Amino acid sequence: MKFGGTSVANIERIRNVARHVKRERDAGAEIAVVVSAMSGKTNELVAWCAEAAPLYDPAEYDAIVASGELVTAGLLAIILKDSGIPARSWQGWQIPILTDDAHGVARIAGIDSAGLLAGFSRGEVAVVAGFQGLHQPTNRVTTLGRGGSDTSAVALAAAIKADRCDIYTDVDGVYTTDPRIVPKARRLEKVAFEEMLEMASLGAKVLQVRSVELAMMRKVKTYVRSSFDDPLKPNPGTLICDEEDIVEQQIVTGIAYSTDEAQITLRRVADKPGVAAAIFVPLAEANINVDMIIQVVSDDTTTTDITFTVPSAEFLRAKTILEERRGAIGYSSLQGAEDVVKVSAIGVGMRSHAGVAAKAFKALAEKGINIRAITTSEIKFSVLIDAAYTELAVRTLHSLYGLDAAA
Ligand code: ADP
Ligand code: ASP
Ligand code: MG
Repeated sequence: MKFGGTSVANIERIRNVARHVKRERDAGAEIAVVVSAMSGKTNELVAWCAEAAPLYDPAEYDAIVASGELVTAGLLAIILKDSGIPARSWQGWQIPILTDDAHGVARIAGIDSAGLLAGFSRGEVAVVAGFQGLHQPTNRVTTLGRGGSDTSAVALAAAIKADRCDIYTDVDGVYTTDPRIVPKARRLEKVAFEEMLEMASLGAKVLQVRSVELAMMRKVKTYVRSSFDDPLKPNPGTLICDEEDIVEQQIVTGIAYSTDEAQITLRRVADKPGVAAAIFVPLAEANINVDMIIQVVSDDTTTTDITFTVPSAEFLRAKTILEERRGAIGYSSLQGAEDVVKVSAIGVGMRSHAGVAAKAFKALAEKGINIRAITTSEIKFSVLIDAAYTELAVRTLHSLYGLDAAA
């Protein structure tokens, strides 16, 4: 069982979590519970690091931001024991959950489940601090990236060979799009791993991308469900499963959006072999992930315009790299835009249907929404548009593909 930030936001909510744990325990389950920090806590800790020094040591950042989960793990253990359920808290290093040394974005390398299993045999519920691990031999605390408690939970479920992994959050499942911006979004009973992976990568933050990858690789039966349901009568939530296990497959399953995009356009780049490499190799070497790319043929045939996107956090770094290489690349001007959003439609049904994206281009045009860039792959397409049109575009596509809930 994993409980996210809003589900453990205060003592009363943690008591409510204990009721969910009690239900499962009364039904005979052995349980590891992974908890996040109280909602808002990690943001506060991150902001303190930046305030302390803009170029902080990432290992110390991890030491600081991992602390939020320590508090909730201890509190839940206290409350469980107070209600007569044997329990103990586990910090990442105590298990240990071993990771690589990529501070702030560490990946789990291995989990020793022996301590937890011994606890189960004593009848104990294991309350595990999510989001954190330990790197050896440096003996430093690491964190798994924002939203990383989802990954802690799935990895732990795989390590202890759990029957299932229930991710409890503030919505009762995975929806056809973010229910906070589209009230007509529908809860999905099941969603295929591949689709969930795309949805998470393209902005649906309900699950961390890495957790979906792990669930898919390690075949962990993972549900997304609500901690705000009555602990005695919870809804099953959404099962993330193999494509074959979904009977009624739609062409488009979900719409996602990501505001984490910035656009760069290089004007009048020489139209000759090697230019794309001159632009994109230095960005790749700087570990900047380029996503959408379009190259326009210009009238004069000797120059062209190249537009592409990078994560907003990398925008300034990318701009600086390209400006430094202006002579080598040879372009007349660089234009950037940060007020852009990427809206994507996802569905395994796209593999076998033509014209799915074309329909969207038409519908967006009818709403006066200009498309700045497009990318497609086997089971999704994305459009880059002005951020001001985010909700309109998401709602338009949601209706277009028949995803709106019946009124
Ligand atoms: P937690 O703190 O429990 O980890 P998150 O805030 O990380 O919760 O994720 C849950 C949120 O994800 C929901 O409140 C919802 O607004 C958002 N979300 C975005 N896209 C979707 C989607 N397709 N289905 C469900 N929730 C979504
Ligand atoms: N507390 C961490 C975060 O806010 C991890 C998590 O909640 O999953 O990113
Ligand atoms: Mg989350």
